[in-house]
Formats: sequence, C-alpha cells, structure tokens
Amino acid sequence: MVETRHGRSFTVQSIGASSSVKEYVCPGCSLIVAPGTAHVVVWRADGLFGDADDLASRRHWHTHCWRIS
Ligand SMILES: [Zn+2]
Repeated sequence: MVETRHGRSFTVQSIGASSSVKEYVCPGCSLIVAPGTAHVVVWRADGLFGDADDLASRRHWHTHCWRIS
C-alpha cells in the first residue's frame, strides 16, 4: 500500500505480531517497538535515490504513530 505524507510517497507494509521478532525504535515517538507488537514498516516509494537506498531507509513505526504522522 502506498501512502502520501508531506508530499512524498511511502510504501507501508503491515507486520503482524507473530512476524515481529526484533526491537526497533519508532521514529514517531522515539520509543521501542517491542517484539511481538504488530506495527508497520515504511519506506520511500518515489524511488528518487534508487530501490537499494529506499530499502536501507526503511523504518519501523507503531501503527498509531504512523497514522498520526
Ligand atoms: Zn511510536
């Protein structure tokens, strides 16, 4: 699913609780996304810097934090 934020396109992928096995820092609130928490992975979809760079810039967000970003 592609969403637009601040004039940019982002690919948003949902991660289920059972698929979430690592800790991540949410860019929205700077708190930990704990293992076992359903959340979303977001990366730029405009391809401006190429797919490799887009993948490197993937960020894990709390679903709520992304919604209100
Ligand atoms: Zn958050």
